[in-house]
Amino acid sequence: MIPTDVIRRKRDGLTVPTDDLEAFFEAYLGEDVPDYQMSAFLMAVYFRGLDDAETDVLVRVMLGSGATLDLGHLPGPRVDKHSTGGVGDKVSLALAPLAAAVGLYVPMMSGRGLGHTGGTLDKLEAIPGFRTDLELERFTRIVEEVGCGMIGQTGEIAPLDRRLYALRDVTATVPAIPLIAASIMSKKLAEDLDGLLLDVKVGDGAFIAEEERALTLARRMVAIGAERSLPVRALLTAMDRPLGVMVGNALETAEAIECLRGAGPADLRALVIAEVAEMVVLGEGRRGADRGDAGTPAEPDAAVVARVTEALDSGAAFERFVRLVEIQGGDARVVDDTSLLPQAPERAVVRAGRAGVVARVAPRALGEGVGRLGGGRQRVDQAIDPSVGFELRVRPGDQVAAGDPLGVVHAGSPGDAEAGVAVLTSAVEITDVGTPVPLRPLVSHRLG
Ligand code: URA
Repeated sequence: MIPTDVIRRKRDGLTVPTDDLEAFFEAYLGEDVPDYQMSAFLMAVYFRGLDDAETDVLVRVMLGSGATLDLGHLPGPRVDKHSTGGVGDKVSLALAPLAAAVGLYVPMMSGRGLGHTGGTLDKLEAIPGFRTDLELERFTRIVEEVGCGMIGQTGEIAPLDRRLYALRDVTATVPAIPLIAASIMSKKLAEDLDGLLLDVKVGDGAFIAEEERALTLARRMVAIGAERSLPVRALLTAMDRPLGVMVGNALETAEAIECLRGAGPADLRALVIAEVAEMVVLGEGRRGADRGDAGTPAEPDAAVVARVTEALDSGAAFERFVRLVEIQGGDARVVDDTSLLPQAPERAVVRAGRAGVVARVAPRALGEGVGRLGGGRQRVDQAIDPSVGFELRVRPGDQVAAGDPLGVVHAGSPGDAEAGVAVLTSAVEITDVGTPVPLRPLVSHRLG
């Protein structure tokens, strides 16, 4: 394999032979291909893409570059969920304990917020003491004991992905569909799962705004799973407005805890229940296949949804979350009293300048605004302030009178509060009553 041949073929839109591509990635791992050559290759992929066979090579080398979990001894189905990321997306915090409460095992490895989207690890770490940097052995024990565990990608899992992601981050090559698909799926395949649910966000607040591209990404990931006998289901879910009403790490953790109490915003609750119900079906599918049963249920039926809803409303999921927080070193008093979460010293209320109907609550502007307030990062190694963010008081379609509160800015200083007010004011658009406010369905597509 000659690295410049591999780069040239990709640059010219040709397929790279499997052996050469594999050798190229292996050579990068062994430090025989330098970052500048890999950067050139990644940029070529950004423009030319990878076909299914090439993507498969990348997944294989990424997966083989690190450890994989061994969870075959667990007595129930192992099912995880991965979201491509959005604004206000705190689903995982409520979903993992709820799935555990209905008998699934959820070995969840999540990421940090980057750019305008938030990350599960940052939300969990808003809980004082909560540790997300556990070793795989300890993590496995926690999943066994609680039914779910939530950590970051350790250095042991898919190190090739870690290195490539860092390079993509500084070469503007993150938004390439085959690279995203391989990156996500290599980590999920390392979790030794029976089923995987993908929440592919679509809209202005998502990584990928256009429906067609989001569908392409979803299909790619489903196909990668199928190639390795991992049942994968993908949902396309709305990110043309924030999910729930809180945007910002500690604020979102508090909202997820509300959801675990059986309360909180209706959209968050509906999505958490719908996703856990899908996970139950994925888990039952694998068990049925093991028994040789035919006719795996395609969609969660009313009985599954009722079982999941009952586990949420009975407090069973809440109990699991308390155990998870305790076992991962967090201060569990926070779960009973969310005022113990980090609190921003400055609050500023934003009010409607006119009467009308809320036409839009722009998620990307709010996500970027959290970054402006110090609650997000542009580089993976930056520290963040978990307390800052936005608390929305209106949703698209709501009618408001002049002077009604639109939301509250939580900021670290008066200057930041002022900047946050400007962000929130421009993120909420008000139009005349009677103007239609089209919104994406919460779940628009179901694949796999
Ligand atoms: N999340 C990942 O894990 N990888 C990507 O490439 C993009 C999002």
